[in-house]
Amino acid sequence: MAEPAYALNEPDPSVQELIAARPQLRMDAQAGLMLDGVPLARIAAELGTPAWVYSAETMRTRLHALQDALGGLNADVHYAVKANDHLAVLRIFAAGGAGADVVSEGELRRARQAGIPASHIVFSGVGKTVRELTLAVTEGIAQVNIESPAELDMLSAVASRLGRVMPVVLRINPDVDAGTHAKITTGKADNKFGIPFDDAADLYAYAATLPGIAPVGLALHIGSQILTLAPYRAAYQRAAELVRGLRERGLAVERLDCGGGIGIGYRDEPGASPTGFAGVLRATLGNLGLKLMVEPGRWLVGPAGVLLSEVVLTKGDGRFVVLDAAMNDLIRPAMYDAYHAIVPISPVDALAPVRQSDIVGPICETGDTFARSRRLPAVEAGALVAILDAGAYGAVMSSAYNARPAAPIALVDGDRWTTIRARQSYEALWTNEIVPDFSGG
Ligand SMILES: *Cc1c(COP(=O)(O)O)cnc(C)c1O
Repeated sequence: MAEPAYALNEPDPSVQELIAARPQLRMDAQAGLMLDGVPLARIAAELGTPAWVYSAETMRTRLHALQDALGGLNADVHYAVKANDHLAVLRIFAAGGAGADVVSEGELRRARQAGIPASHIVFSGVGKTVRELTLAVTEGIAQVNIESPAELDMLSAVASRLGRVMPVVLRINPDVDAGTHAKITTGKADNKFGIPFDDAADLYAYAATLPGIAPVGLALHIGSQILTLAPYRAAYQRAAELVRGLRERGLAVERLDCGGGIGIGYRDEPGASPTGFAGVLRATLGNLGLKLMVEPGRWLVGPAGVLLSEVVLTKGDGRFVVLDAAMNDLIRPAMYDAYHAIVPISPVDALAPVRQSDIVGPICETGDTFARSRRLPAVEAGALVAILDAGAYGAVMSSAYNARPAAPIALVDGDRWTTIRARQSYEALWTNEIVPDFSGG
């Protein structure tokens, strides 16, 4: 076994520690790494790699844990579809009683296609088009979350043209630092999201005068992968202040959409707890008689997914481990410097001596790196690994960069599994392309 190519630093959690912290995973002495009741090697053998695998039971368990924590609060869960928009995933959450938070026409159509009633759908986003607002009104969704005065006027025109009155909530920007990565912070005054806190009350009063608009409440969403409660407490205190102020002006406020952002443990840090989050809601908003909504995405699906990959080769005595998965499949490490735990699937590989390597993909970009200086058991060409906690902002953010077809997806439920998306064909990559006569020949 080659020596590590350079000095070991901060030890990464061991394979055993990573698995022990994730109840959906288990290392079987014969079958290797199992997701619930299914050996991941079996799925890789049938679907090839790279391949995504989701655990249905993990999604259900997490939704129920959150719903239990929210008990007594008059709060509904609206799953943030953008985290993982597969129809089967939407169906699992719908069956568990969740509605949907959508941010585009495509997501609205997906949610409806998965059987989520329009009355359980809320529409967020900073740039909804007239076409999207028209669909929202004709479908009769629960509410549109308004992010600007211009959007309020657009929606008023659309709804009155259709002879409808649309319930809206105003998304306020509470100017709170969520303490998360800059690219996923959304509640600071200099982010593009929401209505400046100081403008919100006047805009709410204005909304009440518009035809086609019924202001019913407020919304806020301060960022993603939030691991501490303090930013939530600060934001909801500001929201409560605004609710009281609006009511003093004689304006009715019935709903507060509290947003999402609840963080998970990607390494060995503890994820945010739903009971802690619910405790903040109770303390800051509990006595206002509001209908509350929460919109988690990552917390519900992140831990439910893994990305399976095979080691293509190693370079430089193990300094680099090159996988067949790449940044086009899972872009979070390249885009957000995100940490994803990586573990071998074979029980033998899992016991190999630890080595420090860069775990990279085959794409022609230095950013195509899943982990830098990562300590993990030495895996060689042909070994299978699982990149953990890849259920959220994974497959949805994939691209076909380097002409790499979209990877297949399997869904595990107990000891059964099934393919829920086939691997994309090469022909599908260019099926919509048109080669005009003047391009040569
Ligand atoms: C992205 C988003 C969410 C979900 O965020 P998570 O971090 O996945 O929980 C919720 N609400 C809005 C408005 C969003 O943009």
